[in-house]
Amino acid sequence: MRLTCPLCGERDLREFSYTGDAVLCERPAPEAGPEAWDAYLHLRENPAGVARDLWHHGAGCSAWLVVTRDTVTHAVIAVALADAP
Ligand SMILES: [Zn+2]
Repeated sequence: MRLTCPLCGERDLREFSYTGDAVLCERPAPEAGPEAWDAYLHLRENPAGVARDLWHHGAGCSAWLVVTRDTVTHAVIAVALADAP
């Protein structure tokens, strides 16, 4: 698999690190119980279809990227800088 960094161009996947879901769930209140914190820290959606992930171009420009991809076809739909609107 190859990703196209907006700053560096098309690069091998080994230059990037997957860091998780780009869509954060709402953080529980500090006094929330252990079940709420366990769910927040460990449970993630695993959609069949379009997903947005956060990646780091650690072996390149060090940019944080939001990669939109289809989890069924493995097609990369879009790559954008994480701080882009
Ligand atoms: Zn880059």
